Amino acid sequence: MALIVQKYGGTSVNDDERIRIVADHIAHTKSKGNDVVVVVSAMGKQTDNLIRLAKDVSSVHPSREMDMLLTAGERISMSLLCMALSELNVKATSFTGSQAGIITDTVHTKASILEIKPDRVLKALNEGYVPVIAGFQGMSVDKEITTLGRGGSDTTAVAMATALKADICEIYTDVSGVFTADPRIVPNARKLLNLDYDEMLEIAANGGKVLALRSVEFARRHNVIIHVRSSYTWETGTWIKKEDKQMEEAVVSAVTHDTSEAKITATKVPDKPGIAASLFRQLADNAINVDMIVQNTSTDGNTDISFTVPRTDLETALAVTRDALPQLGGTEVLADNEVAKVSIIGAGMKTQPGVTALTFETLASCDINIEMISTSPIRISCLIRQDAVEQAVQALHNAFGLDN
Ligand code: ASP
Ligand code: MG
Repeated sequence: MALIVQKYGGTSVNDDERIRIVADHIAHTKSKGNDVVVVVSAMGKQTDNLIRLAKDVSSVHPSREMDMLLTAGERISMSLLCMALSELNVKATSFTGSQAGIITDTVHTKASILEIKPDRVLKALNEGYVPVIAGFQGMSVDKEITTLGRGGSDTTAVAMATALKADICEIYTDVSGVFTADPRIVPNARKLLNLDYDEMLEIAANGGKVLALRSVEFARRHNVIIHVRSSYTWETGTWIKKEDKQMEEAVVSAVTHDTSEAKITATKVPDKPGIAASLFRQLADNAINVDMIVQNTSTDGNTDISFTVPRTDLETALAVTRDALPQLGGTEVLADNEVAKVSIIGAGMKTQPGVTALTFETLASCDINIEMISTSPIRISCLIRQDAVEQAVQALHNAFGLDN
């Protein structure tokens, strides 16, 4: 008998039929003697629909009210799921994030979990109930309702698993696990059976959409074993856990792509100490997350600085950079929305020379120009034109033999 946290994403609870199927699986898990705690996302595209509604109603979206609005999505699915469980004679009770004791900071729309006080959830468990918790939400230290950023239900699930010392955190979705590349682009991409936290972190941070990045960070910090799997086929999915000796260290495990970033270039800024510090401090103070950065070698004492930011933050980042420019002494600020980042990721590349060379050769053979490069010990990322991204992913998947 184990304590299992099961998180069901939007597609898993898309409609009434799916909710009944999920209830069935929960009942089945429980009938085997396990304790089950459930975390749900909003049904289907509910969150997108609510965001659209907000835009239809007004051009002004106070973040507190956005949080009030969006948390409603998960309340719908949690209560409906409890009703479906009741029909199967499974005792179930729903909890909002705040009722479940999820305490966050005060940053509306992208709050971080500070603490979990799971007393009510534990009490329900002890009384034989299946607690069904609304994902993606919490209550701030100021007692305001907050959300954890898009995809935040994964984080709710992992955080709950940590707080409850669960044996496994199962993340149910519409794909059967984490793949060597996006199967829509690479039809012969393979499902990965095991991944360590570092690889999964890189995958999630570089365009892999199966798990929210924050949830993986949480899992790594607290050693939560995650099983990502399909609620359509229920087959074994991908296990994410601390690397053990039995896990073969593939040189390259996956190729990911990300089209959610934009590139900003500040031209002809003085090449002297303090310039980059000042620019990136101002971006940081505006909560802009900068990803890749390139500074060219200077000609006549001036240099171009390029960096990428999430497209959703492009407007703010441009405004900050334009405001900073006169003081920095640059010439102009350019924005480019047509970029994509391809990354190859693998724990084994730490000890294997030649991975970078093969990556560049592969892109060169496709006549794809590399505009920016960034690396970590287990990742190489290249910024390229967005219209070349599918070709790049296919070629790299092939070059590193990921289909066999
Ligand atoms: N419903 C939220 C979203 O669509 C949270 C989640 O699904 O994880 O982003
Ligand atoms: Mg998700």
